[in-house]
Amino acid sequence: MSNGVVDQKPEMKLAANGNSVVAVSQRLRLNPNTDHQPESYEDLKLEFSHFLFSSLERYLPPSMINEPRETKVKYMLQILLRYSPQGERNRFQRHKEYRQKIISNYQPLHRELYNMHPTNFFVPSFLKAISENKEESFRKIITEPSPGILTFELLQPRFCEMLLAEVDNFEKWVRETKFRIMRPNTMNKYGAVLDDFGLETMLDRLMEDFIQPISRVFFPEVGGSTLDSHHGFVVEYGIDRDVDLGFHVDDSEVTLNVCVGKQFTGGELFFRGVRCEKHVNTGTQSEEVLDYSHVPGRAVIHRGRHRHGARATTSGHRLNLLLWCRSSVFRELKKYQREFPEFCGECQRLKKERQRQSISAIKVEVLKKPGDTPS
Ligand SMILES: [Zn+2]
Repeated sequence: MSNGVVDQKPEMKLAANGNSVVAVSQRLRLNPNTDHQPESYEDLKLEFSHFLFSSLERYLPPSMINEPRETKVKYMLQILLRYSPQGERNRFQRHKEYRQKIISNYQPLHRELYNMHPTNFFVPSFLKAISENKEESFRKIITEPSPGILTFELLQPRFCEMLLAEVDNFEKWVRETKFRIMRPNTMNKYGAVLDDFGLETMLDRLMEDFIQPISRVFFPEVGGSTLDSHHGFVVEYGIDRDVDLGFHVDDSEVTLNVCVGKQFTGGELFFRGVRCEKHVNTGTQSEEVLDYSHVPGRAVIHRGRHRHGARATTSGHRLNLLLWCRSSVFRELKKYQREFPEFCGECQRLKKERQRQSISAIKVEVLKKPGDTPS
């Protein structure tokens, strides 16, 4: 264990079915193989999230990485069972059962929402930009009212109507069955997790094929090109719903926030600059202040660390679709990050200040008259 790698004893046997033994003489890599494209484990009924397997695959020893998926699963499972606390496994298992219970009882209203149909969902200008997949094409449809806040037209009115009706249908089902659903996050009392209602696959496609092409170009420094999991939900605002949302950062690398409708006043998003963990409570520079008014069908994309909140929705009802996109690679690599992450406004300010100070210190040295002696 001297070089920090996870030690696997060669004689360890498999818990799986007892008739096969993997001779584990290899060790995990210390750093991930970021060139390797991991397999999908989504279809397997596993005790841990399938994302965990895809992430861990990058750390497999070189001799193991091209083995059949089944062999890799067994190997990784051995490691996970040794290092992951029971509590976490139970939580994951319970959530899987919870989701299964909803999906097997809930009758969808619009089945076409549950698979990705780009031409039915998105406006033509967006589809054209995605198919061209070039920065200049994205720039043509994107407005950037403040650095790092990208807005563009995304959803067709028909898709918005279907989603509104589907969410009404969820709510009706929840009321009728008295099913206790988990709300999207710690801050919203209303709204629903779309992934729990069977929309996970469709939202995976949305992230991979439609959001990542953009985040790869605009947010590469926060894992925008390696998004590999998401949390997808809707939030509802209005007089008898949540009214506003306090100042916060998201548990995401990149957030997509699209207004779905319907009629409302108020509810503006306010942004106050991007901050790293250390600087989340520091002051705001004037150029970081932005208020944004939602328009149905229009999307906003920003870094998860971009501080923001939502003002009160003063009349009507507002429904927004949120997709928190995450990168396990970025989260892993963040542990080794440099002193001043380039996405943090405060870090950049401090860095500039430090540079200015050292330049003026040099100037003082240079301007000293020859013959001056230190006193
Ligand atoms: Zn910082």
